[in-house]
Amino acid sequence: MNPITRDGWIEMICGGMFSGKSEELIRRIRRARIARQQVAVFKPSIDTRYRRSAVTSHNGVYAEAFVVQQTEEIWRKVTPETDVVAIDEVQFFDDEVVQVAQALADQGIRVICAGLDQDFRGVPFGPTPVLMAVAEYVTKLQAICVRCGAPASRTQRLSAASDEPVIQTGATEMYEARCRHCHEVAE
Ligand code: ADP
Ligand code: ZN
Repeated sequence: MNPITRDGWIEMICGGMFSGKSEELIRRIRRARIARQQVAVFKPSIDTRYRRSAVTSHNGVYAEAFVVQQTEEIWRKVTPETDVVAIDEVQFFDDEVVQVAQALADQGIRVICAGLDQDFRGVPFGPTPVLMAVAEYVTKLQAICVRCGAPASRTQRLSAASDEPVIQTGATEMYEARCRHCHEVAE
């Protein structure tokens, strides 16, 4: 552990779809590897977009990742050599991911989480709001509203009613970035 800076903290990257969360996560992973740090990357198995075993951005950049079904699988993949743990689509993990992130950070690991902060209805999504609260660093990104060009904090689900399941991945064309004013939730 560095005696001055003390390693171990949580960084949270949040925002709506297309805001560049995965892009930013991949950028931080790449820079940590340039610094010769051991980075373990995770994503939930529910996210079937693009490559099954990689964190992928809508702009095409990617980083290889362990696909995990249970939050506790993260523990098994972390070794004493691990410096950085990166988790994408963190909103799809259960609440236990908060304890895992906290414990890893307490042990001296830099934990970087990226995830949606709101679902398509504009409701805080899964463990993300709690992670935002306990993180040392929070980066909130915005996309561009496809309707009006303003910064977009929301994700619009197209042609779907609000009583449909919150989780529907693998079909990114069903969603678009919208600002607060252009965002609509079907009654
Ligand atoms: P996220 O992980 O937040 O969904 P990604 O990192 O996968 O975001 O994708 C970000 C990229 O998506 C941008 O660099 C841009 O190329 C592309 N993109 C497509 N539509 C939009 C939009 N409406 N606003 C901003 N970026 C967009
Ligand atoms: Zn708008």
